[in-house]
Amino acid sequence: MKLLLKAGLLIDGTGTTAVSEGAVVIEGDRISKVCKQSELLESDISGAEIIHKPNGTLMPGFIEMHSHIHCSAHTDAYTHITTESNETFLMRGTQAVRSALSSGVTTMRDLGSRNEVVFPLRKGIQDGIIPGPRFLVAGTPITTTGGHCNMFGTEANTSHEVVQAIRQQFKLGADHIKIMSTGGGFTPGTNVRAPQYSSEVLRGAVEDAERLGLKVAAHCHAAKGVVNCVKAGVHNLIHCSWLAEDPENMYDYDTDIADEMAEKGIYIDPTLALSHLNRMRGRIPVPGPGPASDPGRRFEILRDMWDRGVKFVTGMDSGMTNANFDDFAYIPQVMVEEMGISPIEAIICSTKTSADCLGMEAEIGTLSESKSADVLIIDGDPSADIKLLHSVDTIVSQGKIVKKEGILLI
Ligand SMILES: [Zn+2]
Repeated sequence: MKLLLKAGLLIDGTGTTAVSEGAVVIEGDRISKVCKQSELLESDISGAEIIHKPNGTLMPGFIEMHSHIHCSAHTDAYTHITTESNETFLMRGTQAVRSALSSGVTTMRDLGSRNEVVFPLRKGIQDGIIPGPRFLVAGTPITTTGGHCNMFGTEANTSHEVVQAIRQQFKLGADHIKIMSTGGGFTPGTNVRAPQYSSEVLRGAVEDAERLGLKVAAHCHAAKGVVNCVKAGVHNLIHCSWLAEDPENMYDYDTDIADEMAEKGIYIDPTLALSHLNRMRGRIPVPGPGPASDPGRRFEILRDMWDRGVKFVTGMDSGMTNANFDDFAYIPQVMVEEMGISPIEAIICSTKTSADCLGMEAEIGTLSESKSADVLIIDGDPSADIKLLHSVDTIVSQGKIVKKEGILLI
């Protein structure tokens, strides 16, 4: 199939500003040409299905870096995850990946769901049984006994057990490894202000994962956990909340460690849309000093990390309460509104930088010749108003039209 997409603007994701009157030619599942409409040849046009949105913007598909597809996103998400069956989880997951794709997410990284659920689901998408984005999975996250997300994790305490757990996930076909380096708010009784693993255990995990060609993403709220992860060379820090050990002091931000993250090329996924969605949807904050109780200071810290050159990727933590699977556009929106970066910078985080973090820069993340045809047309100019990313007019995923001029086809 040949497809020609034309729009008033084109943001290719490489970092350059939007160009006017852009065009993308797609043949099969590949982008065959990216150009201005005036540069189209007769051979580009002949035989092509044409979608033309004069007041729209062409851009790469969104990359959602943090889902838990079998979690419900309801207020009762914890009850659901601790009581429901794998069959129900599969139904939730099926709906989750469809929902994500329908919002413009063309690549989705799951950061922890049961093996019995995510591996069949990934196969179901690949085989065309159910619609979904390119789906990359960790399978069960690795955690300590009774630790964060133990209800769907592999419990491993010593360095030996952690390495064993990594090899088990590798054997099952995991695309990456997720490890819980500190406690988390979703799991009652775990300590968000203390590490679950030492730097040595994490270092052993990174070395073994690298040997197997896998990257490691680590959940970390406690500042001590952040330090452990950075010293261990973990590839991607999740949340990165810098919570002080003593709850009296909310945060314990260390600029030297932030500089080390930038130097080592460590990416962070600060899941920064979550607090916005909770406020917007009326969730009553948990009493006491939790990770989201001083959002103003948190955004200041994140902005300082950005200014020091730390690279940001766009994870939602979808499946957690209020974080729906079609909410992606809130992430770049909050980056612009709360961190004060530009819309183009937030769009690059949502596409190119996230692709780089996955090690998939040759395949996805920018509109470039020979890359996978994951292309959106936004209704309007998101480089002027980031909120327009909520208005996705047309979605092409791996060359297939998922949504056409406002009409969903899946
Ligand atoms: Zn998560």
